[in-house]
Amino acid sequence: MKYKGRFGDYGGFYVPEVLIPVLEELEEAFYRFYKDERFIEELSNLSKDYAGRPTPLYYARRFSEQVGFKIYLKREDLLHGGAHKMNNTLGQGLLAKYMGKTKLIAETGAGQHGLATAMVGALFGMQTKIFMGVTDIERQSVNVHKMRLCGAEVIPVEGGTGTLKDAINDALRYWTAHVADTFYLFGSVCGPHPYPAVVKHFQICIGKETRKQCLEQIGKLPNLVVACVGGGSNAIGIFSSFLEDKNVKLIGVEAGGVSLNSGKHAASLVAGRVGILHGAKAYLLQDDQGQVWETESVSAGLDYPAVGPEHCYLKDTGRAEYVAAEDEAVLDAFELLSKTEGILPALESAHALAYLISNKKSFSADTVAIVNLSGRGDKDVSIVEKYRPLMEC
Ligand SMILES: *Cc1c(COP(=O)(O)O)cnc(C)c1O
Repeated sequence: MKYKGRFGDYGGFYVPEVLIPVLEELEEAFYRFYKDERFIEELSNLSKDYAGRPTPLYYARRFSEQVGFKIYLKREDLLHGGAHKMNNTLGQGLLAKYMGKTKLIAETGAGQHGLATAMVGALFGMQTKIFMGVTDIERQSVNVHKMRLCGAEVIPVEGGTGTLKDAINDALRYWTAHVADTFYLFGSVCGPHPYPAVVKHFQICIGKETRKQCLEQIGKLPNLVVACVGGGSNAIGIFSSFLEDKNVKLIGVEAGGVSLNSGKHAASLVAGRVGILHGAKAYLLQDDQGQVWETESVSAGLDYPAVGPEHCYLKDTGRAEYVAAEDEAVLDAFELLSKTEGILPALESAHALAYLISNKKSFSADTVAIVNLSGRGDKDVSIVEKYRPLMEC
C-alpha cells in the first residue's frame, strides 16, 4: 500500500492476505477521486440537496442557563437520517459508484449506519446488504424496518454476543468472498487502513462548518469542543478543524462507568489496553488473556470495544482528553436538553452533554463550549422510557 495508515504506532492493516489487494484498490481510488473536481461537485450537491448541509450551529440559551456557561450545539441531528452518519455514507457510496462497484455491504450496531447505508444504496440504485447482530436487531427493530423499506437486506449475525463486533467480523468475512463487485462501506474511523482516513475525510465537513460558524456567530474560537466517542467518527469530524488551535480544549466522551444492565461498559480509551481488532492497532477493552470484552452501554451506538487509531494517538500526545460518562448522567442530560430546548438528543450525543453538566463547576460563566450533537433521540425514546418512566399526572 502507498501509505502505512499509522497514527503514531496505532492503525495499520492487520488483515487476511486476500484483503490486501482490495484495500489497495480502495486506497488508490480514494486518493484519486477525493480531489477529482467532478466527484467533489457531485458530493457537494448531494450533501446540500439530499442530506441538508450545512447544519446549523445553535446557541442553546435555556440549556446554557441551567449549566452555567455558553453552550452551542452543532446540529448533526438535523442531517438526513438523523445523525452524522450520512456524511460518510454519501461519500463512500459515491466513491463506490466512481469505482464501478454495484453492491454495498455494511455493518451496523444501533442501526444508524445501516440505515444511512441503506438510504444511499437506494439513492444510487445499488444492491445493499446490512450485517447486524441478533441482539441489536431485537433492540433496534424500528431501524431494521426502515432499512428494509429502503430496499436493503438485513442479515442477522448469530455469532458472539450478536452485537456490532460480530457484525463487523461477518461483513469482513463476506467481503473476502465477494470483492469483485462489492464495496464495504465502513461506518467509523476504525478498521484497517485506509478506512480511518476515508471516513475522517468525509466527516471533516462538520469541523470546517463549525469553525466558520463559530467565528461568524461568536466572533472567536470556543474554549472547548466536546463530542461522544464510539468508533470516533463524529469526534474526529469536529476535532480536526481545531487541532492546531492549542487553546481550544478537545474532549471525547465514551460510554463509561457501570451499565445499568450488566456492570459492563464501553470506554476503550479510558480503560482499554493496546491490542488489535478488526485490522487495526488501538486501545481495546480486553482481559488479561487478550479476550475482547463484551461491551455494554445504554446507547447501542457507543457499544464497541475498540476505538479509532487517531484518537489513541491524540490521547497519548495529550492533544485531546478522553473521559467517560455514566448511564444515569446521560439520561439526566437527555431529559435536561429535551425540557429546556425541545431537542431530543441521541443517547450517544447525550454523553457529551453529560460531561458538561457533571463538570459545570470547573468552567467559568464566560466559557464557550461547542457540543457535536451527533444525532437525534427519536430512536432512543423507548429506551429512556424504560429507565425513566414518566409519572402519570
Ligand atoms: C454511530 C453514532 C455515534 C458513534 O459513532 P462515532 O463513529 O463515534 O461517531 C455517535 N452518535 C450517533 C448519533 C451515532 O449514530
